[in-house]
Amino acid sequence: MQLSFYNIIVDDHPIPGEHLLYNTRTQALVKVEGQLMGLLKRLDDPKNFSLRMQYANELVHLHEMGFIVDNKWDDVRRLVHFLGDLKYKKTTDTFSVTILTTMACNFKCTYCFEENTRKPLCMDRRTCDATLKWIKERVIRMKYDSIFVTFYGGEPLLNEEALEYLANDLRDWCAGNGFAFRFMIQTNGYLMTHERVQKYLPLGLSDVRISLDGVAEDHDLKRPLRGGGGTFDEIMKNIVENISHVRIGLSVSYDKSGVAHIARLLDHLEKIGILHQLGRIICSPVRASLGQSVHPEKICGSACLINYNDEELLHSVIEINRLMSVKGISVQKGLPISACPLLREHGAFSIDPQGRLFGCNSMLGHPEFSLGDIFHNTFNDKRRKFLNMDVGLNCPVHCRYLPVCNGGCRLISFIEHGRFERPDCKVRYLDKMAPDLVKKEYDALCQSS
Ligand code: SF4
Ligand code: SF4
Repeated sequence: MQLSFYNIIVDDHPIPGEHLLYNTRTQALVKVEGQLMGLLKRLDDPKNFSLRMQYANELVHLHEMGFIVDNKWDDVRRLVHFLGDLKYKKTTDTFSVTILTTMACNFKCTYCFEENTRKPLCMDRRTCDATLKWIKERVIRMKYDSIFVTFYGGEPLLNEEALEYLANDLRDWCAGNGFAFRFMIQTNGYLMTHERVQKYLPLGLSDVRISLDGVAEDHDLKRPLRGGGGTFDEIMKNIVENISHVRIGLSVSYDKSGVAHIARLLDHLEKIGILHQLGRIICSPVRASLGQSVHPEKICGSACLINYNDEELLHSVIEINRLMSVKGISVQKGLPISACPLLREHGAFSIDPQGRLFGCNSMLGHPEFSLGDIFHNTFNDKRRKFLNMDVGLNCPVHCRYLPVCNGGCRLISFIEHGRFERPDCKVRYLDKMAPDLVKKEYDALCQSS
């Protein structure tokens, strides 16, 4: 017997002499005392025979939880099985899909990833109908029991006609066929008025996510109106008017210039009394994205953990976590499985205004990376190519992060190395962050029990 490659050991937490064990494959977390940890580190030592007898029950449990394996081949066999499940198995009964009702936007953000590729196209009725047909067929064929739509853009509220048509139809179809339905609007917040929220709640609106880049002096510089002029005051008015009616989360971007604007924003939200009424606040870095080198575009990071965890931004991530903790806001805990959805059969899809399918929001606006379209029942070769990329198999088999990382973000590999197939390694970042994330998970579990 031996310890699994995929364990993270955190010594002397919660108190000196006690240790945490976290397994990235099984996501199990246990606390072990010093003598048992000493045994685990030298399981094969013949001198430990009597200790092995003394801890026989504990060793059985640790084996069941994946912390101990029979030998390295057993560990690798379990990993390969796990990666196969990750690629092919449905992990949720909810079908999540993002629909871009338009590429048009009323803002001109300094880092917009769509600015150079954007044509202000709107989804028309024919594409809406084909989208509805495609979603319904997939939900039935894959035996999902609920649908969650994110309306996205551009600014999705600039094509309200399509948004309302799609939400109305899906609400009625789901109600008539025994499916649950809800939707989120990812918006710049400028048009998210109280009247609109009231109109959308009966259609299934459950969440609004608003991009906010600090207080007025920060935000208005980065996210002005297309014709010029600040947007912060109008967005804050909308947030305040709607916060007790719908869950509102924030997306806040930052770059290498620091995170002082996030501190100012949190202070402001606290001062006006809404900080703890908000849903999740997701902070992600603005980083280089797809595009021509003479016109570099920028992207405000995606929801993929492995995309926005960046070693160069490590200090920012630590500082943001500290700021959030000080304000009593929950921060990331543990190491959730965050393998690239592009490599997964049941990864989420995004549908652009022309009906093209994408597996990664950061590739929107680049038709060469689309996986097909909703007018046809089959995907294209690109989809098969991504699914066949077993990037994690090019990583050292003993990398303790393999189950959660599986080779990292395909987009970043392509941008930085010119090849989708090459791992985008975050091991130095993860080595620095993992112990703290494991401690946070343990502390949160203790608080909730
Ligand atoms: S390539 Fe994969 S991990 Fe990277 S941003 Fe896209 S979906 Fe997320
Ligand atoms: S990319 Fe790096 S951190 Fe991720 S699994 Fe591969 S070796 Fe490990």
